[in-house]
Amino acid sequence: MTKVIVLNADMTILGTTNYRRAIKLIVKGRAEALVDSEKRIHPSMAIPLVIRLVKAIRSLWRKEVPWSKANVAARDNYKCQYCGVSLAKNKATIDHVIPRAQGGKNGWLNTVCACFDCNNKKEDRTPSQAKMGLSRQPFKPSIMEFLLMKIKAEGLEGVLIDLGVY
Ligand SMILES: [Zn+2]
Repeated sequence: MTKVIVLNADMTILGTTNYRRAIKLIVKGRAEALVDSEKRIHPSMAIPLVIRLVKAIRSLWRKEVPWSKANVAARDNYKCQYCGVSLAKNKATIDHVIPRAQGGKNGWLNTVCACFDCNNKKEDRTPSQAKMGLSRQPFKPSIMEFLLMKIKAEGLEGVLIDLGVY
């Protein structure tokens, strides 16, 4: 299948998509064709080689990536931050580093992706109380950092679907 290069509104390369999705984006007014191929699906519509999103992905998130359990799991690449096991998307749980029972809050710096077993074993204890080390300190990703992580983990199409761009 013909792959179409997708550029963000600022002309940075986001990745590729298939031509059907590219045409859907153009028809919905979400993207414009920058370079057309020789192939046509309709006398008035060529299959594009390169498209550009009309609205920058950055602006969809406004100033920052919102905290959510799904976004924390994506930041941690669906890996348990205690034992390192890779998790299926629907198996990833979120652990509060400082547990809620001890006043820990929701937020980028206090939540990590964890497998069910580690989450269960840690219970309402801090990592040092439970003698369980984190593989890295949780952090708040910048929009571009997060976007690239998500594209790497889920592919561009999944990211565009999540963002409601498709
Ligand atoms: Zn684990």
